[in-house]
Order: sequence, then structure tokens, then C-alpha cells
Amino acid sequence: LNRRLAEFGTTIFAEMSALALRTGSINLGQGFPDTDGPEEVREAAVRALRDGRGNQYPPGPGVPELRAAVAAHQHRFYGHLGVAYDPDTEVLVTAGATEAIAASLLALLEPGDEVVALEPYYDSYAACIAMAGGTRVPVTLRPSAEDGTYALDLDELRDAITDRTRLILLNTPHNPTGTVLDRAELTEIARLACERDLLVITDEVYEHLVFEGEHLPLASFPGMRERTVTIGSAGKTFSFTGWKVGWVTASPELVGAVRSAKQFLTYVSAGPFQYAVAEALALPDSYYTGLRDDLRAKRDLLADGLAAAGFRVFRPSGTYFVTTDIRPLGETDGFAFCRALPERAGVVAIPNAVFYDHQDQGAPYVRFAFCKQEKILREAVDRLRAL
Ligand code: PMP
Ligand code: GLN
Repeated sequence: LNRRLAEFGTTIFAEMSALALRTGSINLGQGFPDTDGPEEVREAAVRALRDGRGNQYPPGPGVPELRAAVAAHQHRFYGHLGVAYDPDTEVLVTAGATEAIAASLLALLEPGDEVVALEPYYDSYAACIAMAGGTRVPVTLRPSAEDGTYALDLDELRDAITDRTRLILLNTPHNPTGTVLDRAELTEIARLACERDLLVITDEVYEHLVFEGEHLPLASFPGMRERTVTIGSAGKTFSFTGWKVGWVTASPELVGAVRSAKQFLTYVSAGPFQYAVAEALALPDSYYTGLRDDLRAKRDLLADGLAAAGFRVFRPSGTYFVTTDIRPLGETDGFAFCRALPERAGVVAIPNAVFYDHQDQGAPYVRFAFCKQEKILREAVDRLRAL
């Protein structure tokens, strides 16, 4: 293994899901739903397979039906903010958001370029920045004392930008903290990006999982359309994480750049699922609001349960994760806590320290996923209350 990758080891998600299987624990670690997405979308995939749509190499940028559906989705949900993309030149289908992140970084970074990213960050960010030869510059989101949420310090963000900064890698709604960046924060990020002439890759895979406030795409802010690569994923919105269908929307120039990298990573993305996701994106508003309302109730169930079990809870405004502080339980080391939890309580969680460069900042925090059936969450809460 080369030096760029050596520090990353095995992803925590694979490790923790294996631990859950081995110990028969409830898996609130890796973020995947325990109920599959809509039946009619599954049927659409079966139909595509049977009818021979996408069984041979689909077009590089993605099948036209899906590119049109992505563009229509962006317009339907964000058109009032001025968002519009041309399906032929401004949409690229990827193998999940993960490939979109990798291809974007590989396409846009020169070796030695700095990437400013919000810490704690999703684990593939650090690895992909490293594979692209870039240097990550973390800006730490900190738990705010008053309101039980995480906050971005805009002064720290400003100070993190240097002459070597090429881009900001943003994530809102934010995994693992559940923070949803608000209009004032995004306005300032956009202003900084324009002032310092930076590109922004914005990972918005949890765009439909917002419980308080609203999701605002960074690309809709003044001056941002031409410098923003926006990333989405069917895994989160339609509960098909195994299909690995994601997409990028950006200017033709940026989409072209990302495509240059994508063509040598996967060449194209799997065909039949693209047709099914095109149908999923056109589901009525009630699907999207239903998903959100269901997850909001589950958030409340798990957040309240964890609080009753003695955790300090950072109630997330978005995503399907809740971050907790384990210090009220007399614990300080999230890694040790998560390793022992299957034996102690039959529950698996993720130590947030894996999402940090500043390990000390992340040590006492632990993340639980709530994209699970209500009865499973109740059982997990019962077990944790008996800790
Ligand atoms: N970005 C974030 C913030 C995520 O939490 C995830 C994962 N689940 C991904 C990207 C990867 O998405 P996908 O499964 O579509 O590759
Ligand atoms: N994004 C999911 C999470 O944060 C997991 C994705 C993965 O396993 N790579 O849990």
C-alpha cells in the first residue's frame, strides 16, 4: 500500500458492520436503511433488466432519462432559487456520491493544492484528497454550549484559506453532526469562494433529510453557479444504498472535468438502476415529505431515548445520524466505548474520532444512525438505557 493511503486502513463502516454481524448486535453504526425503498422503483429496475435497457455499457455521462430526471429534480426543488441545469451538458451520473467525490477531487486538484473541509468529515474525503495528492485543511465544527448543536466558525474558515487553497469541500446537511448550514453561513462561504477565487465541491446527499430549517444548495448563491460542483445520491433519498447511483450537477466545464476522471475510474455507471432512479426522482412530493416526516419521528425517538440513557445529545437538524457526547456516562474515549458496546449492550455505533484529523476534538463523541425500523430503535434504546 502506498504512503498516500497507508494511514487510512479499513473504513470504519465495514469494520463496525462486521462487528454487528459477529455479535448479533443492532447496527446503528453504518448509515443504511433496514427497509428498502419504494416497491414501484424496484419494479422499474426489474423492468429495465428484463427489457434490456442498460444491460450493455450505457452512455458515459449517464442514460438520457436519468440526466433529464436529475435536471428536472433540481429545477423542481430549487428552481425558485434560480437553479437550472442542462441535462445534456451539466449533469453527470456517477457510481454513488462516493465516486462523484473521488472523480471531482481527482479532476480538479493539482498535487500540493489545499482543500478546506469541515471537520468532522465523511471518511472518504480525507482518503480521496490524499489520492489526488492534495492536502486537507480541516475547519472544526464545534459543539455549541447554548443550543445543543454544532456550529461553524466563519472566522476560522476565513483563516484556513491560503494562497495554496484550490477548493472548499462542503457537506450540508452534514454527516455526522446533522448540522444544516443556514442562509447566512452559505452566503459567507459563497462570498469567500468568490473573493478568493475558489471552487467548491458540495456534498448534498442528505438534501431531502432536513427536519428544521431548509436545504439551500450552495450553487444558488451569487457567483457560485460557475464554481460549484454539486453532488447528490439516490442511496439516501430513495433508500437504495446498494444501487450506487449518484450524480453531479455543475457548469459544462466542471462536469467535463469530472467526467474526464470518471471515465477512467468506472467508465460508466451500472445501467438498469439508472432507469429506475429516473422514475424515482419523479415520485410525487408526498414521497419526499413522507420520508422526511418518518425520519423526523425516528430522530425524536432515538434522540429522546439516548438522552434518557444518559448521553448528551446533539439533536440533528438533518441527515439520519445523531451525534452524542458520552462524557455524562463517565466515558471519555469513543473508540473504546464503541468497541465495548456490542458486548455491553448489543448495539453498534460509530466513534466520531474517525471523522477527525484533530483526534482530541472528536474523542468523546459517538454517532448513532436512526434510518431503522421503529421497533429496532425502541429495542436499541431499551438496551442502552440498561447500560
Ligand atoms: N457523502 C456523505 C456525506 C455520505 O454520508 C455518504 C454515505 N453514505 C456518501 C457521500 C456516499 O454516498 P453513496 O452511497 O451514494 O456513494
Ligand atoms: N455514509 C454512510 C455512513 O456515514 C456509510 C457509507 C459507507 O459505508 N461507505 O454511515
